[in-house]
Amino acid sequence: MNPAAGQTERELANAVRDWAAGLPPRIPEAERQGWLPAEIIEDLGKLGVLGMNVPEADGGLGASTVVFALVLEELAAAWPSLAVGVSVNSGIVAGSIVHYGTPEQRARWLPRLIDGSGLGAFALTEASSGSDAAALRTTARRDGDGWVLNGRKEFITNAKYAPLVITFARVGPAEMGKPHAGITAFIVPANTHGVSFGPSEEKMGLLASDTSGMVLDDARVDADAVLGEVGRGFGIALGGLDGGRIGIAAQSIGVARAVTDRAMAYARERHQFGKPIVEFDAIRFSLAQARTDIDAARLLALRAAWLRDRACPFTREASMAKLFASEAAQRITYQALQVFGGYGYMREYEVERYARDARATTIYEGTSEVQRMVIARSLVAA
Ligand SMILES: Cc1cc2nc3c(=O)[nH]c(=O)nc-3n(C[C@H](O)[C@H](O)[C@H](O)COP(=O)(O)OP(=O)(O)OC[C@H]3O[C@@H](n4cnc5c(N)ncnc54)[C@H](O)[C@@H]3O)c2cc1C
Repeated sequence: MNPAAGQTERELANAVRDWAAGLPPRIPEAERQGWLPAEIIEDLGKLGVLGMNVPEADGGLGASTVVFALVLEELAAAWPSLAVGVSVNSGIVAGSIVHYGTPEQRARWLPRLIDGSGLGAFALTEASSGSDAAALRTTARRDGDGWVLNGRKEFITNAKYAPLVITFARVGPAEMGKPHAGITAFIVPANTHGVSFGPSEEKMGLLASDTSGMVLDDARVDADAVLGEVGRGFGIALGGLDGGRIGIAAQSIGVARAVTDRAMAYARERHQFGKPIVEFDAIRFSLAQARTDIDAARLLALRAAWLRDRACPFTREASMAKLFASEAAQRITYQALQVFGGYGYMREYEVERYARDARATTIYEGTSEVQRMVIARSLVAA
């Protein structure tokens, strides 16, 4: 399936694919309830998936980013709501703590992110700062040997399952011409006094994935909550998003693959005008285009992952993969639903769920417009 992946790299992805084959009966109820069942997160902990990129010395599997991409594709092909939760936990949150955490922070927090007791969260977005993340207004002021945080975050994936939220706040006023000066990353335990989570957002798709606001009202954290250096948090946010974008690309590929497989099977079965609809060129060509786009997207995602694994610059490549894969997922889910005709519009055939779920991929972790800005900036700088 994935020509760039070696046998060992496929092992975990294959194990996840086998495990995920048991998910479908659980999905409709969980989507109705808007919740990922705790046993499913526990299972992922037991499989090692939640700590796949955490070094073995820290209790994880020490797998590569290529494996991360392959596993995310499998999870998204089965259940996108679950894939986005794992992507945030294991990509951005665990990844940032592995990369920037002190030995004490790693020892304290990584086990909580990989044992299946919850999923970590990453709180950057605010009501007035989305794409322009450096305009954030949440503040952190020193208080004795700790910090007091005040502000409000929006759209936080996993908020309600999280043992901790990596939260970005500004230490001191924004400086003219240096909007990210003072931004600092904090590991905020979810049970911190003064931290509360708003009601879960009612979304178009990804219904079982929790997305909530977070209020910090004089929330006091200890000095050792600072991740990395004071004032250097924006770099942590951008670095986390670079890696996370490989995860979103992989999610988009998984969704696109799932609907294309279903459309292919349906087109063989469904007869109109006396023959299977797969014999009409309009249908065949749409499936051919989908398969081509999926392979192209996967190669882009695996290239970005491969570069990251070799500690090569990969920001541009991750943005290219995320841009292409997420936009391809829109075209492919649209066309797959079209192959199903009226049945595609009905919940029974699942294609409508994948189409709704796919829509978020061009928005979160940087919109398509932001990806084009990142790619263009890198070209101009080259
Ligand atoms: C399901 C879901 C889960 C999410 N999870 C998280 C999470 O866990 N943590 C978190 O911090 N955030 C999360 N987000 C927030 C997400 O990252 C933001 O929604 C996204 O970055 C866009 O910000 P915005 O919604 O404020 O849109 P805006 O930034 O207001 O953008 C609105 C439109 O303007 C365009 N635009 C903005 N600036 C420019 C420009 N300079 N040039 C051209 N076009 C521009 C955008 O591309 C977009 O089309 C989540 C969002 C969703 C939908």
